[in-house]
Amino acid sequence: MADALWFDPALCLIGGTWRPATGGDDLPLINPSDGSELCRIARGGPADIDAAVSAAQAALDSEWGRMPAFERGRILTRIGQLVLTRVEDLARIEAHDVGKPLTQARADAVALARYMEFYGGAADKVHGQTIPYLDGYTVYTLREPHGVTGHIVPWNYPMQIIGRSVGAALAMGNACVLKPAEEACLTALAFARIAVEAGLPAGALNVVPGLGSEAGAALAGHPGVQHVSFTGSVATGALVQAAAAANVVPVTLELGGKSPQLVFEDADIDAALPFLVNAGIQNAGQTCSASSRILVQRGVYDAVRDRMAAAYEALTVGPAMDDPRVGPLISARQKQIVSGFLDKGRDLTIAARGRIVDHAPASGAYVAPTLFDDVPPGHALAQDEIFGPVQVLIPFDTEAEALRIANSTAYGLVASVWTRDGARQMRLAKALKTGQVFINNYGAGGGVELPFGGVGKSGHGREKGFEALYGFSTLKTVAALHG
Ligand code: NAD
Repeated sequence: MADALWFDPALCLIGGTWRPATGGDDLPLINPSDGSELCRIARGGPADIDAAVSAAQAALDSEWGRMPAFERGRILTRIGQLVLTRVEDLARIEAHDVGKPLTQARADAVALARYMEFYGGAADKVHGQTIPYLDGYTVYTLREPHGVTGHIVPWNYPMQIIGRSVGAALAMGNACVLKPAEEACLTALAFARIAVEAGLPAGALNVVPGLGSEAGAALAGHPGVQHVSFTGSVATGALVQAAAAANVVPVTLELGGKSPQLVFEDADIDAALPFLVNAGIQNAGQTCSASSRILVQRGVYDAVRDRMAAAYEALTVGPAMDDPRVGPLISARQKQIVSGFLDKGRDLTIAARGRIVDHAPASGAYVAPTLFDDVPPGHALAQDEIFGPVQVLIPFDTEAEALRIANSTAYGLVASVWTRDGARQMRLAKALKTGQVFINNYGAGGGVELPFGGVGKSGHGREKGFEALYGFSTLKTVAALHG
């Protein structure tokens, strides 16, 4: 794999220079499709984070900090255009690194380009306001960058998460330090190469791969960082928030979910069916907004279960480069976690399972997608995030009961409602405790325009869309007394 890359994967990007981690330590990067070592990556640590934060600050103090917004936008747009010319390369890298089926990896690369185009176009369109005030005053607001922003991203959608957080931060004129996940960081490095090629000034983007407990913790608590964007688990998110609190800097947390789809008897079941299944098994269920709970009104419960079961039985799981519907999980560790949940479901009835192809290497992190039938809403499988291709079916009788079950977990990221009743659509859209609600669809194609983020243990702050530009900037009020 290392030979197939057009860059050296064992380096950090700091202040425009590609260099090994201080001390020269490295880490193995594993291909989850077969457990083989793909290449070595840098094991960045506190000294590298320190250097990266200084380089980011230096960029703010020079060309990058003075660049007009429209020129920043041009560079971002150029990055997007270059990403589009490399979609196939990026997808193949991601398939090897994350175990993501090629079609899904291609979609991530296209989404990365789209983020760059969107934020490139938006860079010069975030305006302040003038505020009518007392006689003799002129008052206005200025949107300004935070300064150095830290970006800690997970392994499940590296390209999309980099696009939505680094793209928005750069658009607002921040200088970024990116810490990709130790399990999957190749497309972060590829993206940085492309950004440099597109003319991004030295230090505007710095990339330091490494372990969460080393490079990640150093970035979250660095006193030179003025905003931290974190995507990952609840436990780590709480650590990151506490570390940033010591420096009193704002944090965006994009954490997990247990997102439900509510299927009512008057729904168009034919239209719902592909969404019901795909939202649970896409990226092998390792999606923060995966729909892991399917709530179905009693009158159509058996029909929905039987049709979902048939879809599950047709699912094949295999190596990412075969482009199956479901690839491996990210790692043997993740397989162990998901298997632990399947064990917890021993007391439940399995409606259907997918099939792991015969030629899938035993050393790969494969788990057969599993659909559980008639699961009590309080069961661990209906409450806890599994982060694997596992969905639970839960029957309900009334709208009030469906709402109560839907809102009964600690999470609140996404929900969808399948019904033809317009009043019910509006009632539930208001009453569901989530950051996004979809009506008669799920995910809306993941548009970069749509603000995203959670409530409860799903996190706080919003990324994507214009909303992210406000999150990655701060507001200054200027009041001039001129008589
Ligand atoms: P994780 O929290 O272990 O790791 C995420 C990132 O944090 C990695 O880069 C890791 O190196 C870093 N990290 C680990 N310990 C750290 C520390 N002490 N200080 C600073 N950084 C540290 O999460 P994971 O297991 O890799 O990812 C899976 C979880 O992420 C799931 O719970 C999933 O729901 C969540 N997730 C959420 C979203 C979202 O947008 N809401 C997106 C993707 C993943």
